[in-house]
Amino acid sequence: MIVNVNEQIVDNVLKDKKVIYPDVCFCDTCTDDMKALALNKLHPKYVSTTKGELFSRTANIMQQQNKTDTDIAVIQAIEYVSQHPRHKGGWN
Ligand SMILES: [Zn+2]
Repeated sequence: MIVNVNEQIVDNVLKDKKVIYPDVCFCDTCTDDMKALALNKLHPKYVSTTKGELFSRTANIMQQQNKTDTDIAVIQAIEYVSQHPRHKGGWN
């Protein structure tokens, strides 16, 4: 199985940052848009793994190594989506 570890990391960081943006919408549409935006700014980090345990350990290590980049990408994504929410037709 091939996975992009950054997907898991962005997921984790987004959950952490949610609490500091009480006024921002985190519905499914907005959350998916934030994840897509953040992931497009980061280089994908693919790992080959057959075990979930190994995968989460790798994600934890990589999350520490790339913390600043990931935090910036997620914060920019939250701020962009909060100003251009698609659930209200903001992008089209
Ligand atoms: Zn929303």
